[in-house]
Formats: sequence, structure tokens, C-alpha cells
Amino acid sequence: MRLPRRGPAGLTRWGVWSLPAPVLTVILLVELVAVGTLVMSLRHGIGDLPHSWALILAVLTAAGIVSTEASLGVERVRRQSDEGPHIDLSSVWTFAAAALLPAPLAVAVALVLCLHIYARVWRRSGVPPHRALFSTATVVLAVQAAAAVMALSEPTVLFRTVGGLLTVLLALVVYAAVNMTLVVAVIVLCGPNRRFSTFLQTLCHGDDAVLEFATLSMGALAACAMASFGPGYAVLVLPPLIVLHRTVLVRQLEEAASTDGKTGLLNAAAWHDQASRVLRRVERSGGHATVLVLDLDHFKHVNDRYGHLVGDQVLATVAAAVRSEVRDDDIVGRFGGEEFVVLLPGLDGDDGHPGAEAVAERIRRRIRALRVDLADPVGQAVIDHLSVSIGGAMMPADGNELGRLLEVADAAMYCAKHAGRNTVRMGLSAVPSAPGGARTARPAPYRRP
Ligand code: GH3
Ligand code: MG
Ligand code: MG
Repeated sequence: MRLPRRGPAGLTRWGVWSLPAPVLTVILLVELVAVGTLVMSLRHGIGDLPHSWALILAVLTAAGIVSTEASLGVERVRRQSDEGPHIDLSSVWTFAAAALLPAPLAVAVALVLCLHIYARVWRRSGVPPHRALFSTATVVLAVQAAAAVMALSEPTVLFRTVGGLLTVLLALVVYAAVNMTLVVAVIVLCGPNRRFSTFLQTLCHGDDAVLEFATLSMGALAACAMASFGPGYAVLVLPPLIVLHRTVLVRQLEEAASTDGKTGLLNAAAWHDQASRVLRRVERSGGHATVLVLDLDHFKHVNDRYGHLVGDQVLATVAAAVRSEVRDDDIVGRFGGEEFVVLLPGLDGDDGHPGAEAVAERIRRRIRALRVDLADPVGQAVIDHLSVSIGGAMMPADGNELGRLLEVADAAMYCAKHAGRNTVRMGLSAVPSAPGGARTARPAPYRRP
């Protein structure tokens, strides 16, 4: 796992010096510990070398270089589109090295592979050197920790007994824990929300942890095959590794294509696709669903007073608040500007929309209570007293088509605006000028993007 790409570029203007003191302290500490433990293990002596250590070292280094070269294009695109912790798949070889070689030699393999990846991928993708250095330090620490765990078992039993298997599994967990914890800690310390909950969320985000464990498992299998049948068997790991790489890229691109960059919510097209599918399913089962349209009140004032960058920060905070007020199965998207949409499948009530209205009210109150802390150069500033107008439409009472429900919800949202803002209006009955439908209030404002 590596740090993401963002950050100032340029070899001479190392952006690390402009980082906040706690982040800088953690980074320097990790690098010092990595170097310190390496020096200590070198002083301690390399110990008993395995029979064909030179061949194992050469094969693992060559396999790492070949696998990176074979997927250069994929890795560069992944590196550029990856905003979270980045997992490249070289830990297959560094973990196998930790299993088969004494720690200093395993670290040597890791250093060569990191240097190669830096020269061929990171540098061209704009990864600043201090980030590459920190990522390398975390790999060095992870390799040493895994090697220390595996040294608890005799090499002859490591891949042959249940005890050996348990040792390998423990080493795998230790490797992932050291690497991921350090990288995620620094990402969170650099971000606006330095909370433990943010740390846990980032650690468990998406498939990153799964991918890290899958990669390390392949490393364990490679080491097992090399120890049992000979170093040349490492070659069998290359094809599945390259396929895994491509699959990861497809997943990453799919996620990027459906995500709104500012808020992390679904973008309009992805929301529409997912909401249509869910709505059809609910309709077939004869159930209920509600569409909410949310529009922040007087948001222009926030931009005018604090600037658009702060406005973006407020949008992200509001998005997180809306997401946290609804269930995991509810579909939340940013429809554009300061407008959000939510599909709540399965909420009850033909008349009066009690369930959905309660959710809309809860969201409204939550946004009202939000406080966005701004790290202002001249002091601490807080944006509060935000408000939102919310309109809702219910299936089947207000229609069955997503387009129609959006029209009704949008018209209801405008009624909420006219009623003084910071309020919720639900359904056709809330639209006074529209006995035959919501079109008269605001003609077909939303189209499928
Ligand atoms: P109302 O209560 O009537 O909705 O007032 P409003 O100011 O929210 O509405 P209006 O539609 O006049 O302005 C919306 C503002 O949202 C204007 C625009 O600058 C801002 N906006 C739209 N998209 C973004 C964005 O991505 N980032 C930021 N910071 N502002 C945005
Ligand atoms: Mg608007
Ligand atoms: Mg608005």
C-alpha cells in the first residue's frame, strides 16, 4: 500500500517541509525507525543463509521488475486516478522475500523494487520524492516485521506444517497491518478530518484491504512454490498477478466514472442509473419508494463571503452529513451545483409520507446543526447556520417513473423555498399550482444526464 499521488511536484521543492508538524514528525519517525531497524539487523548479522539464496534473491527481484514492466500502462493509469491509499502489487514479491530470505536481504529486494517502481511509474505520475521515500520506509518496516514473525518457525517447517501455516498467516496480517496503518495514518493526518473514525473508515474503504490481503496471499503461494519445488516456480505467479492488476484498474475506473469528485457521492449519471434500477425492482414488488431533492439555501452567499474553495468544503461536509443520515441501501447523489438527490426505497405511507418525511426532516435538522471549521490563516473560522430546502415525491402516490418523481420532488422543493426555505415539502399535494401535476410549477427541470 502506498500514499496517493496528490501533492506538490518537483525534486528540489520537497513539499514535505510544508506539511503540518504532527505529519512531518510521523513521517520522519517512520523513516528513522526503518533505517534504524535495518542497521540493527545488519549489525546482528545476516545469519544462516538458505541454500540457494542468491538464486531466490535474483528470481524475486527479476519477477518484481518483470511484473511491473508487464503492467506499466495499467499501473500509471491506476496511480493517476487513485486518490486513496494506493496498492501496487509488488508486495507479492516483497512478502515472498520476507518468507524466504533473511530480513536484510528481503529489504534489499524491496528497495530495488521500490526504486524501479519510482523510476518507471511514480516519477512519471508526479509522485513527489518525499512520498516515495515514506512509502518505501513503510515497505521496509513491513518486510522486516513479517520476516521477524516468520523467523519464529524453522525454515524447514514454514510451508510444511499447520504451525508453519499459522506463522505465515500471522506474518501476512503483520505485514498488512504495518504497511496500511502507517500509510492511512499519514493520509488522515494530512486531511481535514483527523479523527480516529476517519482513520478506520479510510482503512476499511472499498476493496483496498481485500486487495492487500489478496496480494500478500499470492506472495505466500509464490514463496511456498519456490520453497517446495524451486525458485523457478515463481514464474507461475506472473500471469494471475497481471490479470489481477487489470481487474483492479477496471474496478478503479468504474468507481471514478460514477463518483462526484467534490463530494464522493454518486454523480448525476450514476445516481440516475442506480435509482432507475432500484425503482423498477421496487415497482415489480409493489413497494414504495421516495425521491428527495435537496437544494442548499442561499449557498451563493457562502461562496461570495468565503470563496469557492471553502464552498467546496461545505458541499463535501453536507454530502457526508446527508449520507450518514440515510441507510446504506439508500442512493445518494450530487445532481449538480448545490443540489443533492436521494432515493429511499421501501419507505412507507401512501398519504402524508410519514416515513420519508421523517427522514427528510432529520436531514434538514442535521444540515442546520452542521458546523464547518475553517483553518483560516488569521484564526479559526466556523461556518454554521446552513440550511436546506427539501422536496419529496413518493412512488406510487406521485408517479412511477423516475423522471416524473424528480419533477414532483423538484416542484415540492421550490414550494419549500417559497415557504421561507429551511423546510420540507412532500408530494404533489404540496404543490398548490399543480392540480394536474407538478409541471406547472417548474417544467421538466431534470433530464437524464
Ligand atoms: P437558493 O436559496 O435560492 O437556492 O439560493 P442559492 O444561492 O443557493 O441558489 P443559486 O442557484 O442562486 O446559487 C447556487 C450557487 O451554488 C451558485 C454557485 O456559485 C454555487 N455552486 C454551484 N456549484 C458549485 C460548486 O461546485 N462549488 C461551489 N463552491 N459553489 C457552487
Ligand atoms: Mg440550486
Ligand atoms: Mg440553492
